[in-house]
Amino acid sequence: METKKCPYCGEEIPAKATKCKYCREELPKDDIPMDTSVKYERSLGNQIWIIVMIVVIAIYYVLKLIV
Ligand SMILES: [Zn+2]
Repeated sequence: METKKCPYCGEEIPAKATKCKYCREELPKDDIPMDTSVKYERSLGNQIWIIVMIVVIAIYYVLKLIV
């Protein structure tokens, strides 16, 4: 069985454990594949662009109303 060290108490625990049985701390999921975080960052970047576009369009309409 694969084991890893608990980042909180340093005891050997099963690699698939979500909680340490020694200190009962919840363990961070450090075995997430890299491409998942990349996809998350990409979707976050897309969301920022959508927000920027909405703000630009809103400013355009506000300026049109003033003029
Ligand atoms: Zn622990």
